[in-house]
Amino acid sequence: MDDWKLLEENLRGKGYTVETFPDRCAAAEWIENQIGGRTVGIGGSVTVRELGLFEKLSKHNTVYWHEEPPENMTAMETRQAASRADIYIASVNGISLQGEIVNMDYTGNRVSAISFGPREVYLIIGRNKLAPDLPAALDRVKNVASPLNAKRLNRKTPCAVRGDRCYHCKSPEKICRNLSILLERPAGAEYHIILIDEDLGY
Ligand code: SF4
Repeated sequence: MDDWKLLEENLRGKGYTVETFPDRCAAAEWIENQIGGRTVGIGGSVTVRELGLFEKLSKHNTVYWHEEPPENMTAMETRQAASRADIYIASVNGISLQGEIVNMDYTGNRVSAISFGPREVYLIIGRNKLAPDLPAALDRVKNVASPLNAKRLNRKTPCAVRGDRCYHCKSPEKICRNLSILLERPAGAEYHIILIDEDLGY
């Protein structure tokens, strides 16, 4: 069986709702049609930007994203509002073929909101995030996603120079501070996993 298909089955076995799409346009259109007249929080995510979701959803929802804070709010206030929204949208840093979902955060806003708070969570996952098992997913988070995110955010960390691997730093700007692994679907919220058959984000 194709790995993508197997991941879909494993996620359903863990209690997630799963939708699959061939590309970002089809996924973005579907998500836009699902969400109207709600408050929506978004976590830091290159994938969400690549889908243009902030612009699309802002047309008919109140959207809080610290990367595009409202004029009257700081980025931190926007993170806090996002965590209290009806719906939370983010990507993931890595996922195992068995369906274990791995994320690394700096402030912890994204991993906390994904785990508890908003009653509906959408996790958007491109094909490049898939790893054969949990150790490989953790390795991806440390040696692929985190260095590239440190580079994107212009952090003063050794990994941000080339974005090539983790140097196990003790930098004051170290972004690797809060590691989350969803072993199963957390109780208490509805989870929609959006699998997109192309590379997205880091
Ligand atoms: S621990 Fe430091 S060097 Fe390693 S990925 Fe995180 S920020 Fe980069």
